Amino acid sequence: MRRAGKVVREVLELVRSVVKPGATTLDLENAAVVRLKELGVKAAFKGYHGFPCVLCTSVNSEVVHGIPSAQRVLKSGDIVSVDFGAVVDGYFGDAAITVPVGEIDDRAARLLKVTEASLHAGIAAVKPGATLGDVGAAVQGVVEAEGFSVVRDFVGHGIGVHMHEDPQVPNFGMRGHGMKLKAGMVIAIEPMVNAGKPEVQVLGDGWTAVASDGSMSAHFEHTVAVTPTGARVLTE
Ligand code: MG
Repeated sequence: MRRAGKVVREVLELVRSVVKPGATTLDLENAAVVRLKELGVKAAFKGYHGFPCVLCTSVNSEVVHGIPSAQRVLKSGDIVSVDFGAVVDGYFGDAAITVPVGEIDDRAARLLKVTEASLHAGIAAVKPGATLGDVGAAVQGVVEAEGFSVVRDFVGHGIGVHMHEDPQVPNFGMRGHGMKLKAGMVIAIEPMVNAGKPEVQVLGDGWTAVASDGSMSAHFEHTVAVTPTGARVLTE
């Protein structure tokens, strides 16, 4: 899974380098496809329940599952969330980043910073004997202290020989509640954070989830193994 995670990280960093005003979200997809071909690695999302691309690219108020498009031109001030999964020798890795396009305003910058910090707070809560509620509460606490909202309709997940395995890993919860973590488990922690209210809706394409109030939304994700001493991040 670490090998899959390394590929995921490499592709995400490549995509980050392609993000600039004037690029389309299909340019990001194409860069990822070329690199995957060179590596001989299979993408996890393409074909998953019919999803058409290797990346999910979600711009501004789009939360997750946006479809790369030649029509979607990035402009300065946008933020773009990029979610990517890969499978190496049957094992999956899954991670996401949100990238600023050109110059973004202070509120958008704070949204990115807080969402990434909430992911790291969730990771810091991972250890044997901790609960999924401990992880969710850690994420939620960071987000809500800054006046932002945790999306409830999508959650993290177990990951291994499938991209999505049990258990669900919510980005909210109560300390001490939920399944206990054990060494050897691997989970994807993936806070989706709206600058406004938490509600989301899915557009007519059947995929793209957007913040119902039109506020900006950010998404950061890592695949995280539970070890005897704490968390090991497999996608850094
Ligand atoms: Mg995921």
